[in-house]
Amino acid sequence: MTTVDAPVSHLRENPFEIAREQLRRVAKVFAIDPNLVNVLQECKKAVSVSIPVAMDDGTTQVFQGHRVTHNVARGPSKGGIRYHQDVTLDEVKSLAMWMTWKCALSGIPFGGAKGGVVCNPKTMSEGELQRMTRRFTSEIINEIGPEKDIPAPDVGTDGRVMAWIFDTYSMNKGHSVLGVVTGKPLTIGGSLGREEATARGALYCVREAVRKKQISLQGASAAVQGFGNVGSFLARFLAEDGANVIAISDSTAGLHNPKGIDVQAAFAHKRETGTLAGFRGAEAITNEELLLVDCDVLAPCALEQVITTDNAAQVKAKIVVEGANGPVTPSADEILEDKGILVLPDILANAGGVVVSYFEWVQGLQEYFWKEAEVNAKLNDIITRAFNETWSTMESRGVSMRLAAYGLAVRRVAEATTTRGIYP
Ligand code: GLU
Repeated sequence: MTTVDAPVSHLRENPFEIAREQLRRVAKVFAIDPNLVNVLQECKKAVSVSIPVAMDDGTTQVFQGHRVTHNVARGPSKGGIRYHQDVTLDEVKSLAMWMTWKCALSGIPFGGAKGGVVCNPKTMSEGELQRMTRRFTSEIINEIGPEKDIPAPDVGTDGRVMAWIFDTYSMNKGHSVLGVVTGKPLTIGGSLGREEATARGALYCVREAVRKKQISLQGASAAVQGFGNVGSFLARFLAEDGANVIAISDSTAGLHNPKGIDVQAAFAHKRETGTLAGFRGAEAITNEELLLVDCDVLAPCALEQVITTDNAAQVKAKIVVEGANGPVTPSADEILEDKGILVLPDILANAGGVVVSYFEWVQGLQEYFWKEAEVNAKLNDIITRAFNETWSTMESRGVSMRLAAYGLAVRRVAEATTTRGIYP
């Protein structure tokens, strides 16, 4: 018998409708020309492909894949590729749009894109994943490229997958093309600090936020949902900064200990066994319960739409830092705002990944690689500046951090579009 994928999608609302609605709200508050909104609420290009893969059991399965470019007014499009069973075209479109805003808010010269393949990578062998990745890359080979559209890791993909994309693209071109993809392993032109970058950017945001709120991270309690690339490093960084990490979770298990969890040990356990399940020194909780634990900092670092109208009123954290893209639905956002919870929005809080992707792209184009300290210092500059610009916009306009961040970002993309003019 084959394993049956999770029958219920984590997406309860249409994410692209959410993203478009957010844009329209921002446009109203920031008086963006409705003609530009007409342009910005659509994706420039969406390519859907079928990906036949020879499976280990001798069957051939056909997976669906998408690569969407939302906007290129400020530069080539940039964004990850997601491997997950719940991927839909509308989800990829919303994630592509959010990438446009994320790059604009950070001031890096990229537009937004995203890709996704409907599959469950956890049930696939390395060989199946490699064949699927190489075929997907071949199917979108005319869409991607260092001056055009540059993929990166996202949920369910990692450096290994990026290496296959890099190799497939390069083999077809006849030479190594370092700038075609970021998040590559260090051995083939990755950047120092890229793996930890998303979490590090989120940490820099939390540091600024606690400073503004006049609370200390030393001894503050934190709960982190998701123990993948973002959550696992963020939990570690928060602990290193003196925070008491009282809850962590991955897709298989949740752990809670009000006295604090040994994050290093949990990290080692996950590396060894591939799961948090079976880790001792904490009580088991569900992923839903984790969101509601009493803590100062709550970091949803897994998937979209985990804080909704169903649970937002029960969130007890003082600060919510969105390590994931879109973890709070717009109606839940209003509830959190009414409760006086400071939400550090995704396009700011998780921008560290794409910022260091930008550094990796630059290093690849120049074939000149930087020290890790240099990468982290430059990342800190960009994130801290974006945070402070967002904070002052929030104060001067009397809006939420999210609206301020989106306002700044959308305005920059709108200005670039106006400056270039609509072709022809
Ligand atoms: N997938 C990450 C994100 O959502 C990184 C994208 C990139 O580095 O291009 O921001």
